[in-house]
Amino acid sequence: MKKIKVFVDPGHGGTDPGAFGNGLREKDLTLPIALALKKYLEQYENIEVRLSREDDRTLSLKQRTDMANAWGADYFISVHINAGGGTGIETLIFNGNVSAAIRNNQNVIHSEIMKAVGNVRDRGKKTANFRVVRESKMPAILPEFLFIDNTNDARLLKDPAFLNKCAKGMENGLVSIFNLKKKAQPTPPPPQTQLCNSNKLYCVQVGAFANKANAERLATELKSNGYSVFITE
Ligand SMILES: [Zn+2]
Repeated sequence: MKKIKVFVDPGHGGTDPGAFGNGLREKDLTLPIALALKKYLEQYENIEVRLSREDDRTLSLKQRTDMANAWGADYFISVHINAGGGTGIETLIFNGNVSAAIRNNQNVIHSEIMKAVGNVRDRGKKTANFRVVRESKMPAILPEFLFIDNTNDARLLKDPAFLNKCAKGMENGLVSIFNLKKKAQPTPPPPQTQLCNSNKLYCVQVGAFANKANAERLATELKSNGYSVFITE
């Protein structure tokens, strides 16, 4: 089955700090949000996630969309933090002719973000002629997570738990859009050692086997090392 490719673009980086205020720089916030989103999305089947940068490096806007286009991404998310006097979260898509699907995806991601972040001003779903949403060949969205130059917003942005909530919202939106399913959890192996304390008897179990011969083999080895050994069923 063809994998869903999600391209996540942490805004700014390297010599371009993005917006700043209250001791924060935009490039240092967009990266942990994007890395958290990657980690969350990798819990699902049938998905590949790629970041435009996984460290603090300079990338042009063209390099970012070129990367996503060359890779053949199915979805492009560019993570940003707002500035300029305001508060709250907004999401932007291209203001040109876009399909109903792109608008619908914005509805889904926008509402999942607002649900995940809790009590934060919803500035609404917007459109803009930003290069990253215009030049990407796949549906693209650009969320602006709060205002770095607003004292209350900055307080939230300083909390790693809040940055994770931003990532969680985007994760939930993408799960809904692409109908993603969590990977099956591997069944945990039987306990290899187990300490118990009953009636002041301290016992250490070193193996649990379906096959008695394997248990006996381990018992023989332990006996040869001077342990007293019991096999129980
Ligand atoms: Zn930005």
